[in-house]
Amino acid sequence: MQHIIDRFISYVTIDTESDANSETTPSTAKQWDLANKLVEELKAIGMQDVTIDDKSYIMATLPSNVDHEVPTIGFVSHFDTTPDFTGANVKPQIIPNYDGKDIILNAEQNIILSPSYFKDLLLYKGQTLITTDGTTLLGADDKAGITEIMTAMEFLINNPEIKHGKIRVGFTPDEEIGRGAHHFDVDKFGADWAYTMDGSQVGELEYENFNAAGAKITFKGKSVHPGYAKGKMINSILIANNFINALPKDETPQETRGYEGFFHVNHLSGSIEETVVELIIRDHNKKKFEKRKELIEKITKKINKKFAKQFGEDIVITEIKDQYYNMKEKVVPVKHIVDIAEKAMKEVDVKPLIKPIRGGTDGCQLSYKGLPCPNIFAGGHNFHGKYEYVPVESMQKAVEVIVKIAELTSMPNFGLEAPKTKKKK
Ligand SMILES: [Zn+2]
Repeated sequence: MQHIIDRFISYVTIDTESDANSETTPSTAKQWDLANKLVEELKAIGMQDVTIDDKSYIMATLPSNVDHEVPTIGFVSHFDTTPDFTGANVKPQIIPNYDGKDIILNAEQNIILSPSYFKDLLLYKGQTLITTDGTTLLGADDKAGITEIMTAMEFLINNPEIKHGKIRVGFTPDEEIGRGAHHFDVDKFGADWAYTMDGSQVGELEYENFNAAGAKITFKGKSVHPGYAKGKMINSILIANNFINALPKDETPQETRGYEGFFHVNHLSGSIEETVVELIIRDHNKKKFEKRKELIEKITKKINKKFAKQFGEDIVITEIKDQYYNMKEKVVPVKHIVDIAEKAMKEVDVKPLIKPIRGGTDGCQLSYKGLPCPNIFAGGHNFHGKYEYVPVESMQKAVEVIVKIAELTSMPNFGLEAPKTKKKK
């Protein structure tokens, strides 16, 4: 257990926060610090063909140890952490044999990780938890994934009696700002399919995610002295307010779950003359997703129509951009890649939790780039904040799942009952 803890801590104590405002790749130079370390480590454990490109994308190979033909599979994780919360000076705390009670993350600032609020903690009674000190995030998202892939590869190298095909490993920058897959060279990776190790709770297995779009809506106004404004002033703040009120009230992140989509207003700034509202649109269902975008356009038109005379031009300017799509479409035709992961979990006593992702992953972009890529748990909870934690036992299970997937893939019919002959070209 100590080995995996040490490895994980050696990654999370390196600050790799990404930055959405940067145009370079990686978005922050400090991501190189961990990237370069990972390259050295991959070589040290005995991986072959270890490469890092000028944008810090890392790839490596574990050669096949069987003489029959086996599909090449890949495992992918990201080494950046979210810009939403600081990842500098992470000081992990280790809680052995967790007793199911409150964990004092920071006595000075009275920051408590409590199972009365975070009920998932109770799943891990008796296990070893790694938490923050209450002042930073932990970075289990997704350094737990990197730890698990690295540890599984090391295990396979040290245990050559376990048979497997060729395995490719990919570590990427900038996933948290939605760019992790942008410069991922799927051809160079050369895998038939892959898995991101980037889910949360032990057992999670995901191959459906949101269709996603972002909208920026600009409201124009006219500023006039408020004492003499009758019939003249147009207050863009109030128009923006009307717009937001026209959205369905119960279709917000806090009111929805499962397959329910939403609108999420996540930024508003403005004055009389101009107000900008930013929102995101999410839905698993492609048709409903399109309908949501149409609603935004409809509300825009309605308000523009109302103010057409007074303002003389469009008072509301709406820009909608698609961000990513549901990977289900790309994974269902090769459904056995999910079945293999499910079987692997069962064989190592992990109960598979197959559920739709209420977000996106690098895997959904990779799936659309020709590399079908479901997502598997990495074990952490409460990502992107100071309450983030990961049970070491969950990381160990993830290692076992990776090893088992490798093993199953080298077996006839991938160890699955019904013959599956479909293979991606
Ligand atoms: Zn992640």
